[in-house]
Amino acid sequence: MPADLIRLKPTDFKGKVDPDWCAGCGDFGLLNTVRKVVAEMGLRPHEMLVVSGIGCSSNFPGYFNAYGMHTLHGRSLAVASGAALANHELTVICTGGDGDGYGIGGNHFTHIARRNIDLTYLVMNNQIYGLTTGQVSPTSEHGMKTKSTPFGNLEMPINPITSAIMNGATFVARGFVGDPKHLAMVVRKAIEHKGFSLVDVFSPCVTFNHDNDYPFFRERVRRLEDGDHDPTDWKSACEKAMEWDDVIYTGHFFQKEATDLGALEPILAEGGPIALRPLGVTDEQRDHIVGRMM
Ligand code: SF4
Repeated sequence: MPADLIRLKPTDFKGKVDPDWCAGCGDFGLLNTVRKVVAEMGLRPHEMLVVSGIGCSSNFPGYFNAYGMHTLHGRSLAVASGAALANHELTVICTGGDGDGYGIGGNHFTHIARRNIDLTYLVMNNQIYGLTTGQVSPTSEHGMKTKSTPFGNLEMPINPITSAIMNGATFVARGFVGDPKHLAMVVRKAIEHKGFSLVDVFSPCVTFNHDNDYPFFRERVRRLEDGDHDPTDWKSACEKAMEWDDVIYTGHFFQKEATDLGALEPILAEGGPIALRPLGVTDEQRDHIVGRMM
């Protein structure tokens, strides 16, 4: 059947359960955007894997119709890396929050960038730990008062955009759920990119972060695409990513050409996806191995 006859709608990517996020949570915006984008791209659920860690936003795979895996705190990128290398034919998307990805999973975030494995990382950055009811996170602003910092956050936040670029990421972007068309544009570019892609998404926590709310971002957010930014210019990308005052930029910060890890490794590059190759064991050996794991 021609592909255009089986093109799916965004609603076909709804999971079996509805989100239990607070009304107004920014994460709804990214969920709806990803459903729309993958439908427009002509992807189908069996061609996709969505992997998450722990946190409000990490419930994403349960609300999305595709292969999914809700893993351990901060470990989504490790699991997704294995899946992407074992089956190049899958479109692999990692989802999670700033605490899960940049704090608990900070080590994986560093190394996924330099490895350039072909997957897309969508981080719903609300600058707070929401699931545990409002503690300071790696992206909380300096001075921010939270349950764990009642006198103000003493630490400086990390900058995910400059961190990813410095660590070798080949595609880096930022979006805002309050600007859904623009968010859809950067998410699509990220999924289409061959290699590791990061999209840091401003996704307000309406319950626990009353500093960085929708009005905060609406007043400040400016699209890079409305100016003359060149995404091949890493210095300009870093300078713009570090602006955090009256103007905060969203958009396609940086992209460079580089062969992804799966294509560089001869064992992975030849013979098709490992996941689809013969196991090289007898049926009895296979049953024994599976039996021990169940
Ligand atoms: Fe969203 Fe915050 Fe509610 Fe969690 S606590 S669902 S991040 S609004």
